[in-house]
Amino acid sequence: MAFEGLADRLQSTVKKMTGKGKVSEQDVKEMTREVRLALLEADVNFKVVKDFVKRIKERAVGAEVMDSLTPGQQVIKIVKEELTDLMGGEQSKIAVSERPPTVIMMVGLQGAGKTTTSGKLANHLRKKHNRKPLLVAADVYRPAAIDQLQTVGKQLDIPVFSKGTEANPVDIANEAILHAKEEHLDYVIIDTAGRLHVDEHLMDELGQIKNNLTPDEIFLVVDAMTGQDAVNVAESFDDQLDLSGVVLTKLDGDTRGGAALSIKAVTQKPIKFAGMGEKLDELEAFHPERMASRILG
Ligand code: GDP
Repeated sequence: MAFEGLADRLQSTVKKMTGKGKVSEQDVKEMTREVRLALLEADVNFKVVKDFVKRIKERAVGAEVMDSLTPGQQVIKIVKEELTDLMGGEQSKIAVSERPPTVIMMVGLQGAGKTTTSGKLANHLRKKHNRKPLLVAADVYRPAAIDQLQTVGKQLDIPVFSKGTEANPVDIANEAILHAKEEHLDYVIIDTAGRLHVDEHLMDELGQIKNNLTPDEIFLVVDAMTGQDAVNVAESFDDQLDLSGVVLTKLDGDTRGGAALSIKAVTQKPIKFAGMGEKLDELEAFHPERMASRILG
């Protein structure tokens, strides 16, 4: 399960509030101190932690708790609401273009899980939304990346559009969209090139693809296990490309949760999906409230 470390700590902290018939300022102080430490240890962004704790403190000593018949429970409810808000509040839906195909551009650093996630997303759209997706191999620098996407496509029996490594990514994507129209496919998922680090050339290329295609969604794929690095990567990509959402991968191995709890607050962009394993059906729509419930038990 994701976030065990954080969940254990927060659960033991909030448990102390259960059943409390009266909540003193001292109780709130102690609880928020523990919450603060738990979040910092989970590698949540420092400023995000500060604002979060401040909001809980304000609400927990306010009338909604004082006038409540079960003040302890009320405080726990506040923590859960704030945690839900921190991760984005409402669940964020995927775009549907009025003029198909809907174009989704997948961006991210190498190794984050972009290619796997492109396949997972195609599978999700077909299975859960009854849509016909097309995968597009636009990483022209790494033949291995193209092969990998083709393997994923075969495994899922989902078509993959590729022109090898000779064509340029903008042309590939444009041709893929025409192809999707002809074949009446309704989603085009473009697996763009990734690099080891954020660099100017990568951003220029992604910017060109974006300007040429005006995609309906630009999803950044980031590895949740990299914590604050993932948040920094998200900030850089968002500055350059104005992302529409984030997909957090490897949440299955993330005991801390620092990226999941910081990315929305730092970038203001929603987490749309979470990768929960290596298999191609291990992608979940991200539900902030469910995540908060998992964390708080
Ligand atoms: P890319 O370089 O960004 O295209 O990354 P890949 O799609 O090749 O993925 C890199 C590695 O991460 C592969 O071994 C994937 O199986 C693995 N991976 C991707 N998503 C997840 C996930 O949600 N959970 C786990 N445990 N592994 C993942």
